[in-house]
Amino acid sequence: MTKDEQYYVQIPVPVPIPLKFVNVYLLKAEDGWRIIDTGLNTREGKETWNRAFSELGIQPEKDIVEIILTHYHPDHLGLAGWLHELTGAPVRMSEPGKKAALYIWDPAQPQAKETAEFFTRHGMPEHETRDIEQHMIDFMRFMTPLPPIKEIRNGEKLTLTVGEEHLPILTPGHCDGHFAFLGEKSGLFIGGDQLLQKISPNVSLWPNMDPNPLQSYITSLKELKELPIRKVFPGHGRIFTEAKERIDELLHHHDERLEEVLGYLKEGEQTAYEICRKLFSHRELDLHQLRFAMSEALAHLVYLEKENQIRREDDGTLVKFFI
Ligand SMILES: [Zn+2]
Ligand SMILES: [Zn+2]
Repeated sequence: MTKDEQYYVQIPVPVPIPLKFVNVYLLKAEDGWRIIDTGLNTREGKETWNRAFSELGIQPEKDIVEIILTHYHPDHLGLAGWLHELTGAPVRMSEPGKKAALYIWDPAQPQAKETAEFFTRHGMPEHETRDIEQHMIDFMRFMTPLPPIKEIRNGEKLTLTVGEEHLPILTPGHCDGHFAFLGEKSGLFIGGDQLLQKISPNVSLWPNMDPNPLQSYITSLKELKELPIRKVFPGHGRIFTEAKERIDELLHHHDERLEEVLGYLKEGEQTAYEICRKLFSHRELDLHQLRFAMSEALAHLVYLEKENQIRREDDGTLVKFFI
């Protein structure tokens, strides 16, 4: 637990995914404390929250007034239902984020099957798509119970800390409906997963979601660069101050990635799966990482396609990309 600035407490919650920790925040305002993001529903996750409440002298049912989610990814939303039951506080997120959350975390798990079919069409072998589908279904155990979700309107100012209003900033790209929150006076920025210091946030193409997420991400980074961000409180990794420099690095990283994909396609037409295996040839990928590697390769391919730099050939069962 780290107290940074006067009213911001950062709590790293352990999560059983390769990132190992998600940063959640407790923010103090005149009317009580607000939770930003939650962790996954595991014993360690719940213990971490209980410890934080007791160290800060917070009585959850009395002092927590809202639970705010930057986005619907499991490491950010997973414990929202448990925290809602514990505190009675409403859970709120952006309107497109809520819509996506209800689709992705539907207990019937339509997205698992759709993702498996989508990856098969893009060349992934069946044994891998089958394992990915099962892995997604198994992941639901970290997501229950799902809380009722209320919306934060675009442009609605929130008083997240003592004496300061925060503006929700729609920052799509990492996922649909991602919100970041900027302190209007202080320039303190709750960044979710849009802006991380060491890791390049995953930008992925999924069925039924943003059809060009990399374009959304690049546009959103350029918009963020114009804002007076003084310090970033990220969803993973350390708190940092050099937002503009980091944005430039991330833009540069995606330029390089796009060049790399174009380089591979110069060798001849290929599926997204073949490109994915080349992009990530330097590392062993577990199922979780393979799913994100595949959808990240697809995000870069559809970006190039929409820029008219590459084209696709679709015979109804298999999609190949070519220059
Ligand atoms: Zn995320
Ligand atoms: Zn995350």
